[in-house]
Amino acid sequence: MPLLAPTPRRPRWHRLVVSGVESAGPDLVIVTLDVPEEARDAFIRYDAGQYLTVRVDTPGGPASRSYSIATAPSAARATGRIRIGVTVVPGGQVSPLVARWAPGTDVDVLPPLGDLVLTPRARGPVLAIGGGSGITPVVAIAGEWVETGRDGRLTVVHVARDDERAMFAGELAALAEAHAGSVELLPVRTAVHGWPTEQSLRRLLGDRLRGGPVLVAGPEGLVRVVEAAADGPVLSEVFHGGHPD
Ligand SMILES: Cc1cc2nc3c(=O)[nH]c(=O)nc-3n(C[C@H](O)[C@H](O)[C@H](O)COP(=O)(O)OP(=O)(O)OC[C@H]3O[C@@H](n4cnc5c(N)ncnc54)[C@H](O)[C@@H]3O)c2cc1C
Repeated sequence: MPLLAPTPRRPRWHRLVVSGVESAGPDLVIVTLDVPEEARDAFIRYDAGQYLTVRVDTPGGPASRSYSIATAPSAARATGRIRIGVTVVPGGQVSPLVARWAPGTDVDVLPPLGDLVLTPRARGPVLAIGGGSGITPVVAIAGEWVETGRDGRLTVVHVARDDERAMFAGELAALAEAHAGSVELLPVRTAVHGWPTEQSLRRLLGDRLRGGPVLVAGPEGLVRVVEAAADGPVLSEVFHGGHPD
């Protein structure tokens, strides 16, 4: 018997290359990262809903931030590319620098982490709620849901201030239309419907809050009302304090 337990391997930084930067609305960018061959093992085997950790040099020294992956793992395996969707926070230390990346920029990135994921055997009904840039992991989860032909329905609630700031809205609408039996999309626009409350979520979602797993990502205000409204356990990821992006 070995005397010492094996030391867990610490994740190490890899260098990925920006292959695209696309404006997705006011202060919203979608960045595509190419995963070089030597980093494929570390980056391509992730679970939908996980995030990357990105490190940049800032005037105050190196700083790292988490950005959820918006690509279904099956698509990443096929293309060797991973997308992230970033809200540019005015005055923020890192996100304004991400928005200035251009194709060819080298980026230091840790392999995917995070527990906002469905088990491989999870079946519908599942409810996945994303607010602001919190829709990013939900996009990967929805893509994987249809790619792997999961049974039952995935309901996606996309909370954004307005249509202009609804990152990935077109992609989600196309997915829900093409897979109407398995993905349902419910857009909530806070400029029109107001910020979600426990009561408004219960009105909108009814039994969907009781039927199966509930996942939510985004601002803390949204995560807390979803936790209060849901009748079962909630898997959550708080992106930042406060309310909408
Ligand atoms: C697990 C996880 C996954 C995340 N995934 C994403 C993602 O997919 N896309 C994404 O854009 N961000 C995501 N974030 C948030 C991201 O990591 C950074 O916190 C964000 O980009 C701000 O970093 P910054 O250095 O620009 O601002 P900072 O200098 O760190 O912060 C400046 C101020 O802005 C506030 N703030 C931070 N984010 C926002 C926001 N979105 N809107 C309004 N105010 C904000 C902070 O609370 C702080 O008060 C995630 C966070 C976590 C913990």
